[in-house]
Amino acid sequence: MANKIIIITAPSGAGKTTIVKQLLSEMPQLEFSISATTRTARENEVDGKDYYFLTQEDFHEKIEAHEFAEYEMVYAGKYYGTLKSELERIWQHGRTPMVDIDVKGALSIKEHYQDAALTIFIQPPTLDALRVRLSERGTETQASLEERLGKARYELSFSHQFDEIVINDQLAIAHAEVKALVEGFLK
Ligand code: ADP
Ligand code: 5GP
Repeated sequence: MANKIIIITAPSGAGKTTIVKQLLSEMPQLEFSISATTRTARENEVDGKDYYFLTQEDFHEKIEAHEFAEYEMVYAGKYYGTLKSELERIWQHGRTPMVDIDVKGALSIKEHYQDAALTIFIQPPTLDALRVRLSERGTETQASLEERLGKARYELSFSHQFDEIVINDQLAIAHAEVKALVEGFLK
């Protein structure tokens, strides 16, 4: 089957980015799908590499022009979306897009691409572990940490709707499990 997609989703802080980065460095047949967002860049983030950082106005223009495969307001006033042009760009390279998106976005891409898409939900061992990881990552204010934890509780209730669930307790084990699932799907 041509034009597959791998979708990794999880509550914020579950370890999705860590696992995705490892897989991308090991599997040249995968390419990171760069999302568009209206949130501001973190200190170490680069426009066009981590995200396409857009103004609200530009983002809304792209919504109107049907340029998104999916988009969501993931956090209050902050939009994130997968551009159709980004998926096409990666398929044209002969690679498979690795899409790191929120739970709702993952479900809408799956609905569209069906068996061409593999959805993997990365689950934190507990909500307490998630709190520790998010605060140790040092990227959140107290308010945004609470917002992310609140959303995480909600997102965990969707886990059974994905093709696979991987619990990220020991990173090396979770990474190996995700890798095996991706390799099996791409075969
Ligand atoms: P996400 O992309 O899901 O928001 P990250 O990959 O940024 O999550 O991980 C959140 C934090 O937790 C990071 O600081 C990361 O180093 C750490 N982390 C990831 N996996 C584990 C794990 N299995 N055990 C402990 N810490 C972890
Ligand atoms: P962060 O602000 O930590 O980079 O990402 C916050 C959340 O937005 C994460 O759960 C991430 O997976 C999600 N996200 C990133 N890109 C997209 C996207 O293109 N679409 C959707 N629906 N969610 C996204």
